[in-house]
Amino acid sequence: MLPDLVYPLDGRPADGEAMAVAPGVFWVRMPIAIPGLDFINLYLIDDGDGWTVVDTGLRSKKIEELWRVVFARPGFDKPVRRVICTHFHPDHIGQAGWFEAEYGAQLWMTWGEWTFGRLLSLEALPEPPPAVLEFYKRAGLGDEALAAMKTRGYGNFGKAVTPIPRALHRIVDGQVIGIGRQGWKVIVGQGHSPEHACLYNAELNLLISGDQILPRISPHVGVYPGEPEADPLSLYLGSLPRFDHLPDDVTVLPAHGDVFRGLKRRLRDLQLHHDERLDALVEALATPKMAIETLPVLFRRELKGEHAMLGLGEAIAHLHLLINRGRVTRSLGPDGADLYAAA
Ligand SMILES: [Zn+2]
Repeated sequence: MLPDLVYPLDGRPADGEAMAVAPGVFWVRMPIAIPGLDFINLYLIDDGDGWTVVDTGLRSKKIEELWRVVFARPGFDKPVRRVICTHFHPDHIGQAGWFEAEYGAQLWMTWGEWTFGRLLSLEALPEPPPAVLEFYKRAGLGDEALAAMKTRGYGNFGKAVTPIPRALHRIVDGQVIGIGRQGWKVIVGQGHSPEHACLYNAELNLLISGDQILPRISPHVGVYPGEPEADPLSLYLGSLPRFDHLPDDVTVLPAHGDVFRGLKRRLRDLQLHHDERLDALVEALATPKMAIETLPVLFRRELKGEHAMLGLGEAIAHLHLLINRGRVTRSLGPDGADLYAAA
């Protein structure tokens, strides 16, 4: 029996505060306007004559101001030398360009995350390309939803981030990054994003897990038009064992939710959660369904707007895994949407 998760810290840092989690390691929270997430956790690591910042927050003037408040605190007044972004999502990389402009900070990331973020930040179109609309038509979106999608433009990622630095300092799986006097080992996970970097410090027994491992919610794993046949859930579940070798009493510093202990329990629960949802999906597909019709099977509450789009990506991820395991088949329905059925 694996024990329940433990949340070892009392309280959370308020806006503009930095809470010590270990010698030289501080937890900062920044607001994000994503319902259900509300905050992102960012970490400051003492790097001798400066700071290394792990993840940065969304692009916003308010967050810039909050960062200035953090660095005006007694003992925190030194430059940011380096930014390490776990992955390309805007709440993580959004202020990397600001740190570069403000401090000349270097950007350290995996190749896959940096290139994908740079690429998305350069792409902006007045409306979605035909292949994107086709992807969502095949997923079961009706004419009205597709027409609404056209009005929202395409490639809005660039608006959520400050200019992503052109110069990359590449990090790779297994590399040990020296920060201050200590080493942080890079452990790359997949599925939530292409090459998500987590950082493990053996001496302090800390794991900065980004969005790869979260304590209370299951990280988002979705299929999108950029890789319409992707199977990110297989990649996600396949990369979780990369964390098995870490000590179970490691303190995990996630990007959302609270700092926790009980890594093995969390890894097991994430696996079980997906196994259950996959079984429920196969059962529901005794009657063939479009991807969009599977949302009530996977999500207890009704999803709206952007949430529904994320949910749809997640549903397709589950369906693709099931196809690749031979448990579900896909055929093109009469109205141009894919129909999924239990095999
Ligand atoms: Zn993310």
